[in-house]
Amino acid sequence: MGLATRRMVAEREALIQIDFLTAILRTSNIRYSFFMEADDEFMREALTEARAARDKGEVPVGAVVVLEGAVIGRGHNEVITLTDPTAHAEIVALREAAQSLGNYRLAGAVLYSTIEPCAMCAGAILHARISRLVYGADDPKAGAVVTHFGICSTDFLNHRVMIDGGILEAECREVIQSFFREKRKTDTSAERCESG
Ligand code: ZN
Repeated sequence: MGLATRRMVAEREALIQIDFLTAILRTSNIRYSFFMEADDEFMREALTEARAARDKGEVPVGAVVVLEGAVIGRGHNEVITLTDPTAHAEIVALREAAQSLGNYRLAGAVLYSTIEPCAMCAGAILHARISRLVYGADDPKAGAVVTHFGICSTDFLNHRVMIDGGILEAECREVIQSFFREKRKTDTSAERCESG
């Protein structure tokens, strides 16, 4: 068996083992009590980032990348500030994490995002080999993980991501909804001013 084939077999076996462990963990209460406490804590960090975006007038989405219990990257939506259509919270956080590790692959890392990632970010999560994605609220428009496409559930890069949605869902949704509520209010008053 050639080296490349052996590597492919090893990667397949690793995936099967991960699936098996995930299946056990998913049915275990231990996982939930252990993971969920940490999940809430890191999602609060992502929410802090989302509020930083809101304060700049950006759609409030925040993300953090966590490795071995430590935040190694954080980011918030900055598309307007940076004049960069790729400056979504997840991309900014992934870039910082890769820089701080000195490695473009972030195996073993968990990405927390306040909103279900879009197609671009879900693709970047796969390319970065993120092990687990935790998000707050679904995005019925652009969500590409569960709502549309199921990008993180395919294994075309021989990589599968564990996905947990709905962490601090109400808070994550409220940050976005209150932003648009406020925006509608100011937009209406601006129109009123214009029309005298
Ligand atoms: Zn995105």
